[in-house]
Amino acid sequence: MSEIIRTRFAPSPTGYLHVGGIRTALFAWLLARQNKGLFYLRIEDTDKNREVEGSIEHIINCLKALNLDYDAGPDKPNDKGPFRQSERLEIYRKWANKLVESGRAYADPYSKEELDAFRKQASDSKQPFLYRNHRPDNPPTWEYSKQPLRFKSDPKAYSWEDKVMGKLSAGAEAVDDFILIKSDGYPTYNFAHIVDDYEMRITHIIRGQEFISSTPNYLNLYEALEIDHPVFVTPPPVLGPTGNKKLSKRDGAKDVLEYLAEGYLVEALINFIASLGWNDGTTKELFSVEELIEAFSIERIVKSGARFDERRLLWMNGTYIRNLSKDELFKRAEAFWPKEAANYDNEYLAQVLTLVQERLKYLSELPELSRFFFIDLPLNPILINSNPKLSELGKDMLKQLLESAYESLEQSDFSQDDLNNRLNDLLTSSGQKPAVLFSLIRIASTQATASPPLAASLMVIGKDRSLKRLKQQIDSL
Ligand code: GLU
Repeated sequence: MSEIIRTRFAPSPTGYLHVGGIRTALFAWLLARQNKGLFYLRIEDTDKNREVEGSIEHIINCLKALNLDYDAGPDKPNDKGPFRQSERLEIYRKWANKLVESGRAYADPYSKEELDAFRKQASDSKQPFLYRNHRPDNPPTWEYSKQPLRFKSDPKAYSWEDKVMGKLSAGAEAVDDFILIKSDGYPTYNFAHIVDDYEMRITHIIRGQEFISSTPNYLNLYEALEIDHPVFVTPPPVLGPTGNKKLSKRDGAKDVLEYLAEGYLVEALINFIASLGWNDGTTKELFSVEELIEAFSIERIVKSGARFDERRLLWMNGTYIRNLSKDELFKRAEAFWPKEAANYDNEYLAQVLTLVQERLKYLSELPELSRFFFIDLPLNPILINSNPKLSELGKDMLKQLLESAYESLEQSDFSQDDLNNRLNDLLTSSGQKPAVLFSLIRIASTQATASPPLAASLMVIGKDRSLKRLKQQIDSL
């Protein structure tokens, strides 16, 4: 029987979790779930200088909010843990001692100044700087947490297989002596992840492109430790909207929790993030989480950069919102109502929601799109003045049009059918186009630039209120 698939998400707690990080987590999660394998969360907190307080909670909250459940992690131990590297120092020390014993690691005796001098020497003679050209003849005995411990590499050329990038290779110059354990007793990423992936029986490493150039060093270390390496899977970078550089916070890409707070749906975010560098080979764009688990494959991760296009996310989210059942939308919208909605019953809220559902792209747009259903907004003359079709008619004409609308609507029972009939009759009798007449009535009755279909909006706003608003607009002209 082949081994169970185990993947891990191994973030460093150095700040907010960006989209690229979440995508790594998602791909690793999908691979594990699809294969009935295991997905671990491992916190790589060995660089105390870069650690940002609160990051671990943030990472855990993000994964939980996106329903990317892990089978083991810092708050969910199993026999492969602990899952915080800072709690595994003894394990790294044990492995480091093995390397010392086999002659594959040595205490680094140099001061920063000495190393700087070596570097300068190399640059003056236009040679690449390599630590292994400066190995001490008689290194001191390694004292844990006093001197750094450096790997004694065995330089050679490598070629290796990456499931996404294909065959990669590098010459012996890519292999050098690197630090395994720092002088503070903490391991480097380069050492710790290799030990952990082995001890945790990880089968697939899914991580960013920045680790490709160090892979020859890792391969050299796997050999020295006499262990096999997991399958390497390196998805393409997530690029900014212009597609020519890596996505950064400056491109407006938000933290996942911010997107959720703005009313992006979990399923839309997951679908969108999965599509950054992966497709199923068809033109299908919308995938439920179950469909993703079914359809995902590392063979279909693309090599070239994946563009982060927020408009596409917006489109996707709007589509998911439109596809929600009325009840489900009602539940999801609960936290997003304008405060004025508090005075209205659920039936009224449900009617409003049905009307705005078509137009909602994310749920925090709800107040802006629905406020006029709850309160009378002050007259806003700009709405008419900035509409050339209306302003060119002149005030008298606008007033006349609104007066005839008022007269007709006064007779209406405010059922949607009757309102529709009356609005259409008004078009005929006035000889105006909908873009003129309906825009005018819309502005008068909502004081908003856009609203759901007019008759339905009037029906929900109600007769008294609609007439009162028309009257107010007439008086202002
Ligand atoms: N701790 C590394 C990072 O946050 C993870 C790399 C890996 O997945 O091995 O970039």
